[in-house]
Amino acid sequence: MQNKPKIIVFSEIDGSGKSTQLKLLYNELITNYRVFISKIEYMPLNDMNKSLIRNLLIEFKSGIEILKQTIEIHPKDNKFDYILCDRYLMCYLAYAYMYGIESIELIRKMLFFIKNPDLTLYFDVDVDLALSRIKERNSEINKHENYESLMHAKKGYEKLFNSFGNLEIIDANKSVGEINNNVKDTLIKRKLITR
Ligand code: ADP
Repeated sequence: MQNKPKIIVFSEIDGSGKSTQLKLLYNELITNYRVFISKIEYMPLNDMNKSLIRNLLIEFKSGIEILKQTIEIHPKDNKFDYILCDRYLMCYLAYAYMYGIESIELIRKMLFFIKNPDLTLYFDVDVDLALSRIKERNSEINKHENYESLMHAKKGYEKLFNSFGNLEIIDANKSVGEINNNVKDTLIKRKLITR
């Protein structure tokens, strides 16, 4: 058993397959290790029509969500070997960029007390493919999930690559099985699991 939990983040836009891959890894790790899943359900869906009060409330709720996750994944006692995060601060900042907040790298620096995870997996997916997966999953697409805004969110992610260390880019256009194998190879390469 390990002492300090290893924190592994699953990131990228919706439809990239984060949750699918997280569940697969969870099912494999849970047979031998104590694994905790930290999922951020809420994502900021700001009003692009500049409703100041509404946007401030959304930013406030975002702040609370980030704080909640930070507390949740840094427990004082070492009850877990792995913490798998479905989204992280990085995802919030990429979405903030999507809503026109330019200074996301500076905001990350200001939030220096929020540590970098042991590994951030970036499931790099083509936006068209992500949208078709979302459509299949939900039958209806959220108005924020369109080609233009998701492309913008991806740009936000790319701006943050250097601000979050321990990042690995995984080609998420492949099949579920191929991606799962790449995830496991990455964890082995990073010495986060043994074969
Ligand atoms: P996310 O958590 O990033 O929004 P999901 O894991 O929920 O993505 O996947 C979105 C949809 O796409 C789900 O219906 C899932 O079954 C499907 N899916 C996930 N990964 C793949 C893949 N590699 N190939 C085809 N479909 C996928």
